[in-house]
Amino acid sequence: MYQAVRGTQDILPDDAPYWRHLENTIHDLCARYGYRRLEPPLFEETSLFVRGVGEGTDIVEKEMYSFTDRGGRELTLRPEFTAGVMRAYIEHGMHTWPQPVKVYSIGPAFRYEAPQAGRYRQFHQVNVEAIGEQDPAVDLEIMSVAWDLYETLGSQGLSFQLNSTGCPACKPVYIRHLVAYYEQHLDDICPDCRRRLQRNPLRVLDCKVESCQPIIEAAPHMRQYLCAECAEHFATLLGYLDLLGRPYTLNHRLVRGLDYYTKTVFEVWAGEGLGSQNAVCGGGRYDGLIEELGGPPTPGIGFAAGLERIILTMKAQGIAIPQLPAPQVLVAHRGAAAKARAVVLASELRAAGIATLLAFGQRSLKAQMREADRAGVRFTLILGGDELAAGEVTVRDMSAAEQQRVAPAEIAGWLKRRL
Ligand code: ATP
Ligand code: MG
Repeated sequence: MYQAVRGTQDILPDDAPYWRHLENTIHDLCARYGYRRLEPPLFEETSLFVRGVGEGTDIVEKEMYSFTDRGGRELTLRPEFTAGVMRAYIEHGMHTWPQPVKVYSIGPAFRYEAPQAGRYRQFHQVNVEAIGEQDPAVDLEIMSVAWDLYETLGSQGLSFQLNSTGCPACKPVYIRHLVAYYEQHLDDICPDCRRRLQRNPLRVLDCKVESCQPIIEAAPHMRQYLCAECAEHFATLLGYLDLLGRPYTLNHRLVRGLDYYTKTVFEVWAGEGLGSQNAVCGGGRYDGLIEELGGPPTPGIGFAAGLERIILTMKAQGIAIPQLPAPQVLVAHRGAAAKARAVVLASELRAAGIATLLAFGQRSLKAQMREADRAGVRFTLILGGDELAAGEVTVRDMSAAEQQRVAPAEIAGWLKRRL
């Protein structure tokens, strides 16, 4: 017996209304803010992710699905969208477009992780980016798209976690102080953190090991070391958030796993429903990324949110979603000649825009009525010998248990007036 590969899952029809509602909400919201869709391919050159996501990150060190194709190319299934979107920005010369270029993507991403609730090896993200503008009002806009997404869906208990990770001028100064502080505590920290200190010191702040927590709590904060420009950028953003009344928590541990983040970093935390996986969305500024990938110096900011985690929160919080419309008409038949007419009638109704089921096989009318009941249709159209002889169709209103005859040429209009 084959099973879905570990960490992957089928999206079954019962969940389709959640996905449809979520995707529609994303499209509407992005349009309201002036973001247009850009879909990069599912796989890219491995080196793009190594440079774009950054060596020393969990993603590059242990989570990528990489392979060599039959032409000898080193490729990787995308673990995230930003690197591919930046590659597209450079490749299509988007720096010549009006700035900022505002785009979004929705689709699967792949990471080799330990699967658990809210954490999969194939999952879906919505990714939103504004490229080419460093105004803190863009930071606010990106955060607002993320916020509005959850608010529009009806999520409760949201909060922003917010920090600034500085820029190439001030970040290294902070890292030196952080490392100096950690060097006084080498005996108290976990082996992973000792390794992080060598490779990617900021990530010690991300450590989940119990014994490292007091060390992290007392560590110096990046915000104390921001240069004048970064401090002003951050203060302006906080001012805007205050004006809009958006609640946020300053979180000095928020550094994100990715190397290219500068200045603003944020996460949206859901109130309940996800247990330990409560970060539903993460994002930030990456003013150094495009240059790192070979493009002109270009600022940018974006966020990514996991769709499965959003749907888990929607379910946990009992958020109502619109049901998808189901067919309201079933065509039943008795005898071979009537069935041939039924096949044609069902096809004509669908062409007229009426969602229609056709009863299959040659079952009794009673069995076909039971099928109509189970499907929950409002009208059953019946074609039998009598109807053929009269050149009519019997229409049965399932809720009123009433029926009447209608001419085939009029049936589509008759149904449309009542559905
Ligand atoms: P985490 O700390 O939970 O591993 P992350 O920092 O790796 O998250 P990002 O790279 O910022 O996450 O991705 C943005 C969002 O994508 C996350 O907030 C989460 O909603 C979702 N996400 C990330 N990894 C997974 C996964 N393996 N399965 C499902 N959703 C995921
Ligand atoms: Mg992760």
